[in-house]
Amino acid sequence: MVIRLLSTDVSSKIAAGEVIERPFSVVKELVENSLDADATEISVEIRGGGVESIRVVDNGSGIPGDQVDMAFRRFATSKVARAEDLESISTLGFRGEALPSIAAVSNVSMITRGADEDAGTRLDIVEGETIRNERQGAPRGTVISVQQLFRNVPARRKFLRSATSEANQIQTLVTRYALARPDVKFTLEVDGQRRFGSPGSGLLREAIACVYGLRDATGMLELAQQLDVQDNVDVRVDGMIGPPSIDRANRSYMSFFVNRRWVQNRTLAVALEQAYRGFLKERRFPLAVVNISVPFDEVDVNAHPSKTEVRFRRQDVVFSTLQRAARDTLIAFSPVPQVRRAYTTGVAPSSGYPTVTPAAFWPTEPFSDKGERQIANGPDAERKAGEVASEMVRAQESPALPKNALPVLRVLGQVRNTYVVAEGPDGMYLIDQHAAHERIVFERVRSELAQKQPQVQKLLEPVTVELDPRRLEILKTEADVIAGLGLDVEPFGGRVCIIRGVPTVLADSDPAAALVDVLDELSSAGEFESWEERAAYSIACHGAIRAGKSLSHQEMMELTRQLEQCLQPHSCPHGRPTIIHLSINHLEQEFGRR
Ligand code: ADP
Ligand code: MG
Repeated sequence: MVIRLLSTDVSSKIAAGEVIERPFSVVKELVENSLDADATEISVEIRGGGVESIRVVDNGSGIPGDQVDMAFRRFATSKVARAEDLESISTLGFRGEALPSIAAVSNVSMITRGADEDAGTRLDIVEGETIRNERQGAPRGTVISVQQLFRNVPARRKFLRSATSEANQIQTLVTRYALARPDVKFTLEVDGQRRFGSPGSGLLREAIACVYGLRDATGMLELAQQLDVQDNVDVRVDGMIGPPSIDRANRSYMSFFVNRRWVQNRTLAVALEQAYRGFLKERRFPLAVVNISVPFDEVDVNAHPSKTEVRFRRQDVVFSTLQRAARDTLIAFSPVPQVRRAYTTGVAPSSGYPTVTPAAFWPTEPFSDKGERQIANGPDAERKAGEVASEMVRAQESPALPKNALPVLRVLGQVRNTYVVAEGPDGMYLIDQHAAHERIVFERVRSELAQKQPQVQKLLEPVTVELDPRRLEILKTEADVIAGLGLDVEPFGGRVCIIRGVPTVLADSDPAAALVDVLDELSSAGEFESWEERAAYSIACHGAIRAGKSLSHQEMMELTRQLEQCLQPHSCPHGRPTIIHLSINHLEQEFGRR
């Protein structure tokens, strides 16, 4: 094999591939350029999911006529001059790669006028060649049109998703930047229709209202001021987080910005989730818009060409500052002390919904003399509880129930309005009423879906719900699934839709909250295998009887009977146990009869 240098054509396509992966990346780079140019108004228009065309218009500083050509050269940037500058980057762009990369994989046309110029410049690049560069009258700012993206890169085209899905990603991007920069007025048009707009008033709550709707925006809590100068690292957090009553089925409602750059960062997500521990139900996530300000030399944004990943020099300080700010905010909002005890990881003060430690099937333990097992509170508590439980499983060699079958049970009563106590052939059984019912409803909904025969309960009074654009879109694209679940919903004009019927199992729950959750589950790649499972799960979650509800003897008998008939009665859809067993053998040991 002969080693040779790649032609410019090939190398520029390879380089472009790293920066421009999909239409989303083009919009991201262009919007970031507009923000770097101090624009206060940015409008994005896309057609055909961005593949057909993308147009970004801003009122920023523009590019002087004699430099327009230069802007499209690789590694040409006005933002970084010396190697040291890379140590502290204050702009969103800095690599000087975006415009040349975009021009390498599409046809581009730019009209721009620099702040001090009388006339603007028009530059057209077709198939990598500049075919026009001339003066032209233009308003201050820059307009870039990108046509026929990836027309010369068939391999990329193949990996693109549907136009709807590409457009949704772009919408997420624009809304995220509207949250990062409430002082900038954003608009998004998709195929000629306005999809999103923010007022640019500078008020975060207003931006949140445009993205997530007025109701959620009103409830948002301003993050407690937190200025942390630990070890000379100056970290600040600001933004808004949702109260515990606003929760979501997935993580996509937590947005993080570092120095107002939208980033994906696991550390920040974990810090926030930890702060919510005990405030939210298990596997529910908050709504949050958080900006971290750190000195520019404390963060490396040059970890990846797409600049969405960042590395903090002092990740530990950032983590603890965010966690503390969020925790303080939540505690100030909700002064009810958190109840913590062995076996439960916490009781959410607002919902009164206990979360169950993933206990072993055989969770009894040699109680201490005082009859209480001491498990430390704090981050280790859950892990320890789990360890103790699994140790006990090994020690006890419990007579496991035959796989996938429950014995016939006789109901004895209820403990704490949460656990049903029953007697079986070999001892005593405790059933978690919520987990058990979740399993029952889950299996029922799944089978109704499979048979396309949902049981629908018409609402006496239809309910209207305001949905954000993303959910509205899912409502349209997944209409069949939603109908299959037994949700009778239709658009009602604008962002509002109307719910006329719900699956029978949801007759007693909040139809609006259930719909929102179903839509969220359908949009997320959650842990369930299929969308049927995901959707069935969110219905189950809403439809299942709550812990804390007093049940009649009849109801408890019905519950155990239905659980006995489940295909997988031993765990709820998330794998937590529905039933635990205290064998006669164990009782005899405990009472010293053996
Ligand atoms: P980078 O943003 O990394 O500098 P780009 O290729 O995205 O590289 O842009 C090259 C240069 O073009 C920028 O440094 C900036 O000077 C200029 N530029 C690009 N877009 C705009 C815009 N919308 N308004 C003003 N200047 C712009
Ligand atoms: Mg750029």
